[in-house]
Amino acid sequence: MIEAKGVHKLFGELHVLKGIDFTVERGEVAVLLGPSGSGKSTLIRCINELEQISAGRMYVDGELMGLREKNGRLHRLSDKEIAHQRSRVGMVFQRFNLFPHMTALANVMEAPRQVLRMSKGEAERDAREQLERVGLADRADHYPSQLSGGQQQRVAIARALAMKPELMLFDEPTSALDPELVGEVLTVMQDLAASGMTMVVVTHEVGFAREVADQVVFMDDGVIVESGPPAAVIDNPQNPRTKDFFAKVL
Ligand code: ATP
Ligand code: MG
Repeated sequence: MIEAKGVHKLFGELHVLKGIDFTVERGEVAVLLGPSGSGKSTLIRCINELEQISAGRMYVDGELMGLREKNGRLHRLSDKEIAHQRSRVGMVFQRFNLFPHMTALANVMEAPRQVLRMSKGEAERDAREQLERVGLADRADHYPSQLSGGQQQRVAIARALAMKPELMLFDEPTSALDPELVGEVLTVMQDLAASGMTMVVVTHEVGFAREVADQVVFMDDGVIVESGPPAAVIDNPQNPRTKDFFAKVL
């Protein structure tokens, strides 16, 4: 579903991703772990083209992201084509970024109405289903300010799901939450994984990685140092940098 081949990213002189090779199969959950500044957010943002890669190739579902190969040369896609590619990838950030002046229901309906041009009736039916899926059917008419952080994040997940993405990206979805609210969001993500969604998750929740990840990817300084099943990478790391990291966080 995702294939990164030799992906590099530079911000000016700063070389942030230094040749990333990374595959996520359909239905798989990959958890990215690593120290602050190692490039986790940048990598995840390169998957849905919030950042343009500097070299290499990124494929989602076999489709080259952001570029078209024509007569042996690469051309950048138009903004419209990129927006279309991006609409197939759901993303949830640390901050929920809900529209404050809209109810939970209206937040979830917005993109399907605007981007997919869904009818109001269809969008509403679908939005209610997505809210039900994240356990918030009874909060549809609440505004973000009337919801807890955990509930807001679950609305953000429902909003991403309403676009029927092929793949979901999460960048530290629970880091801004009070500790007692983390569990409800992780439970929703775990259910989503069990439903077969392909997911890439940046998180510091090692317990979640252990239980839900098919693949744990440990990054440091712009490279993938070690990857594999949680039992190998978390509980029996081979690389000294991975060992050192988990010795500190566990
Ligand atoms: P954290 O755990 O703190 O979220 P991270 O692993 O997600 O860290 P990134 O946010 O990907 O790390 O950042 C990697 C490096 O790239 C950092 O040195 C950061 O300062 C730099 N960086 C990220 N985004 C930009 C940008 N838009 N412009 C310039 N530098 C950037
Ligand atoms: Mg980050």
